Amino acid sequence: MPAKDVIIIGGGLGGLSAAVALAQVGFQVTLFEKRPRLGGRASSYMLPSGEYVDNCQHVTLGCCTNLADFYRRIGAADKIRCYSHLLFLDAHGRRQRIQPSPLAPPLHFALAFMKFPSLSWDEKRAIARLMLSICRNGGRPTNANDMTMLDWLCQQRQPKRAIERFWRVVLVSALNEELDRASASYGIDVFWKAFLANRRGFELGIPAVRLADLYLGCRDVIERHGGEVHTSLSVGEIVESQENVVAARLDDGTTVTSKFFIAAVPPDRLLRILPRTVVEHDVQFANVCKLRPSPITGIHLWFDRQVMADPFAATLGQTVQWIFNKSSLYAPLLQNASLGFGSVNTVSVSGSNAATEGQYLQLVISASHNLASQSREEIVDSCRKELRYLLPATREARLLKSTVIKEPAATFSPEPGCDRWRPTQQSSLKNLFLAGDWTQTGWPATMEGAVRSGYLAAEAILSAVGRPQKLLQPDLPVEGFARWFSRRGVVKNTPAAPSLRTDA
Ligand SMILES: Cc1cc2nc3c(=O)[nH]c(=O)nc-3n(C[C@H](O)[C@H](O)[C@H](O)COP(=O)(O)OP(=O)(O)OC[C@H]3O[C@@H](n4cnc5c(N)ncnc54)[C@H](O)[C@@H]3O)c2cc1C
Repeated sequence: MPAKDVIIIGGGLGGLSAAVALAQVGFQVTLFEKRPRLGGRASSYMLPSGEYVDNCQHVTLGCCTNLADFYRRIGAADKIRCYSHLLFLDAHGRRQRIQPSPLAPPLHFALAFMKFPSLSWDEKRAIARLMLSICRNGGRPTNANDMTMLDWLCQQRQPKRAIERFWRVVLVSALNEELDRASASYGIDVFWKAFLANRRGFELGIPAVRLADLYLGCRDVIERHGGEVHTSLSVGEIVESQENVVAARLDDGTTVTSKFFIAAVPPDRLLRILPRTVVEHDVQFANVCKLRPSPITGIHLWFDRQVMADPFAATLGQTVQWIFNKSSLYAPLLQNASLGFGSVNTVSVSGSNAATEGQYLQLVISASHNLASQSREEIVDSCRKELRYLLPATREARLLKSTVIKEPAATFSPEPGCDRWRPTQQSSLKNLFLAGDWTQTGWPATMEGAVRSGYLAAEAILSAVGRPQKLLQPDLPVEGFARWFSRRGVVKNTPAAPSLRTDA
């Protein structure tokens, strides 16, 4: 193959965002993705039946400004539906809807919070006190460095029930880790950016199409700018000489060359395709294996009838953390059958119009360490038991089929101190750049983090060719009283420079 400007290895959000941004500023990009579809972990699967399901429901928040920018670049912004309320269900069948009032941040949730029935006044007071303290510090983790969120909450005298019914409910999903393992700095940052600094920070964005359909525009952008996208083609080996990457060997036997390379693959893959000598002599590479994985389990249930009216709900005090009503979320897709590919995931009951009669739900359990040893049948059974109380209509409904997708390494675990093991986008090989949610982004492993990494890798290449340009988008501005409360007034935008450890 002829030499191009940039070869990108991996078509997840890190690789795609770098590819699209570089193509749009005039680089000729060639992207190789091992799987048949783009999107990596945030994509869709084909079931043995030939139906496509999302790997797992993915949601974004208003504070994910770089992901929003990426969706705009690829023409996918209108495929994301925004919701400005949250719905909580508890085991007693109670529904608690939370939405902001016109009060300025950080008080926009104060009224809804005061009415929240699952917490006592003392618990609410304790939470409000700590929220105010987060605000006063502008989301900075004072006294929380290298601490778990649970230790920090205990140090801040949060009642046990407040931890279980409030902090845990938000953070386990946001960080994909339990409070006794997750870093307090990440936990504090989630509350600051999503709930305190700006009234749009918490807005929930949920794709109205299958995840894989979101990225259809990527190929168009890259090809329109003279680039190429190759799916079902993986890079087996990176060839290095004198601290430069000179080629990449593909699994089909071809060798490709380029001026620059971006490796946007998960860390274990990177270590497999890099020359052993490079990994052994570079602590930045050697240390990435110290990032520990954290699992997410997605449970897909197809019922013979409607069992849920709302498009989504979070739960309080349950194993199942989120319930997504995929039939309702996909409603615009069903009305426009020309969108996307493959069959639509509705239930087909004896030839009837299942889009209206049956219902497809997806349940999400983040940090699902305890489910690792359970069989798929056991997981479905225990979820159905919880649903009997959360969604009483499921008691009478017939479960037509189900599938469980366990992702043992869904994200890296955001443990205290894990930033030490996250490399920057620049590497010791002069023309090799790194992207991926696990690189230094200042964010936990999320789609926003992955896009940030892609933009940062693209910025590094632009600097290397003497055309420095800012691609990274600013955070939402700090609004209202939050500006006044926070001592520094402006949210930090770029992560603090990591102190890389030198021991491999
Ligand atoms: C179950 C689950 C639920 C999640 N929910 C959310 C959520 O709700 N919100 C959110 O923000 N984030 C969520 N995440 C996290 C989010 O999916 C990731 O942070 C993000 O997609 C990571 O993108 P990435 O590009 O860094 O990595 P990846 O998506 O892993 O991309 C890497 C790509 O490289 C490819 N590849 C690997 N080796 C090679 C090779 N040798 N040659 C060519 N290609 C190769 C892989 O096939 C893959 O496509 C979730 C993740 C999971 C697993």
